Formats: sequence, C-alpha cells, structure tokens
Amino acid sequence: MNVTLNNGVEMPALGFGVFQTPPETTAASVAEALRVGYRLIDTAASYFNEREVGEGIRRAGLDRSEVFVETKIWISDYGYDQTLHAFDKSAGKLGVERIDLLLLHQALPTDFDKTVGAYKALETLLADGKVRAIGVSNFMPDALAKLVDQTDVVPAVNQVEVHPYFTQPDVQRANAAHGIITQAWSPMGGITSYRGTGTSTFDDPAIASIAAAHGKTPAQVMIRWHLREGRSAIPKSVRPERIAENFDVFDFELAPAELKALDALDTGVRGGPEPDDVTLEAYGRPIPEA
Ligand code: NDP
Repeated sequence: MNVTLNNGVEMPALGFGVFQTPPETTAASVAEALRVGYRLIDTAASYFNEREVGEGIRRAGLDRSEVFVETKIWISDYGYDQTLHAFDKSAGKLGVERIDLLLLHQALPTDFDKTVGAYKALETLLADGKVRAIGVSNFMPDALAKLVDQTDVVPAVNQVEVHPYFTQPDVQRANAAHGIITQAWSPMGGITSYRGTGTSTFDDPAIASIAAAHGKTPAQVMIRWHLREGRSAIPKSVRPERIAENFDVFDFELAPAELKALDALDTGVRGGPEPDDVTLEAYGRPIPEA
C-alpha cells in the first residue's frame, strides 16, 4: 500500500522505525523487516545507526529501487552548507547514492534562519537528484507556515507524534491544507510505554476490545487506524515476532465507529519534547563524519 507524495513520488504507507534500536541489532532488525515485507526504513543521523541500517538493507539482498530509505538531519547540522555536508555524512553511512526522503528532524525556533538555510539545502539536494523527496519532522503549524513562506518546495511529509493518546488534530489539519502527508512517529504509542507513567496504549481497554473484536492485537489495530485515516506509520521493534505482527495489518478493516472511538482517546498530552523548547544548547550533539 503506497501513498503518493505531493511531488508524485510513491512512498510505502507502512514503514519500519529504528529509534533506540542499538547499532549491534539494527542490521538484523532491518533485514528481518525487509524479509517480512516492509519496504520503507526510517532512521535519523541522531539515532547513530545509519551505517547498520545500510548493512541491513544490503543483507536483505533486494534491489536498491525496492527499498524506500528515509533519514533526518539533526539540528547540530543546520545551516545551508552544513546541511549539504550532512547529506554526504548520512548517504556515506547508509552506503547509498540517493536518499528517498530526507527530513529536517526538528524546527529550531530560536534559530529559524538556520532552519530555513537547512531546508534550502534540502531543496538543492532535490534539484540535484540526490534525494527523491524532502520534508520535515515535529513542525507545528506556525513553524510550517513560516517555512512554506520562506522556501520554494512544500515539504512532502511532516513526521510527528501521532498515536491514540496524542493525535494532534491541528497539526494533521495544517499538514493536509499544505498537501503534506502526516507520518506518525510512535504510531503505536510506544512512547506511552517507554516514557509514560500511566496506562500505555498497549494496555488500553478500548483498544484491546476493538482488537479482540477483529482477532487482532492492539498494535495491529493502531497501525490499521493510521493507514485507514491516510497517515503513514513507522512502527519499531527489535523482536522478529513483533516485526511480523506489526506488518500483518492488511487483512481486516476498522469500522467508522471504531476509528472514531480511537480518535476519542486523545489526551492532548505530548510524549516527546515540546517543539518550542528545542534549542541547540539543550539538544545539540555532534554527528560524526561518515
Ligand atoms: P512505537 O509506537 O513504534 O513503539 C515501539 C515500542 O513498542 C518499543 O518499545 C517496542 O519494543 C514496543 N513494541 C513494538 N511492537 C510491539 C507490539 N506488537 N506489541 C507490544 N509492544 C510492541 O514507538 P517509537 O517511539 O519507537 O516510534 C517508532 C519510530 O518512529 C521510531 O523507531 C523512529 O523511526 C520514529 N520516531 C521519530 C521521532 C521524531 O522525532 N521524528 C521520535 C520518535 C520516534 P521492542 O522493540 O522490544 O519490540
């Protein structure tokens, strides 16, 4: 199942994430994901496992054109020239000549000029054919509007936190108004389990009851919900049985009332960093050379 980006590029709707996947298990996880059918891999310079993602892709033995590779530029590499060089670092570690989708990982509200400079570098990479599509991550509607005003190419994707406990309807609406695909990170609400203090989405009774009605798991219901509502989703696991489970979502359909019930679980409480609080001082970290 593909989604068509605003520049005509086809992107698999369901992908595989590797945030917090240790470098030593990344190649095996990525190869396993590709073996069971995923065709999109989402990593980032700041996950420090791009080299192992590349190794996993090569291990899977698929033609390069069959795998959609997505990565993100970290804020420490923002600014036009630095971001052009950051592409070389990421492509070098991944061992690819072309990256399918390259995102800015965060807006830098305190240094928006540098953010714009970084995005202009993505535009250059796109014009030069070094990337097939460009986009952003964690951009709230005001930052998105400012970026679109100051640049030429509308982002293809905005990857943001979306799971049943935090759905960001305002962000999804803004994305849609610009023709931008919303890609859900922590799509199963993993962050409510590894960072949360209350009930996690995996233990939510409403999600469990929808899952039971379909003979599926809560994880599968949450992924199906994203796809049904037009979002891309990039679930992560390091366990082969879960990697397979999270891809086994194409043999059932959620009813409109079930989609609504999932939407209604939104608590408005963000699991990830507040986008306005992201500064180089607090979050900057050097990204090694390839
Ligand atoms: P997910 O919603 O993908 O959940 C992952 C967590 O849930 C892990 O702890 C995993 O453990 C566990 N898990 C996986 N499958 C199942 C299952 N079937 N049943 C029960 N538990 C399960 O959240 P993530 O935060 O990992 O997000 C996914 C991806 O999104 C990341 O890998 C990354 O690519 C991207 N991301 C992007 C961010 C951004 O700022 N742009 C921020 C955060 C994530 P285990 O591995 O042990 O199975």
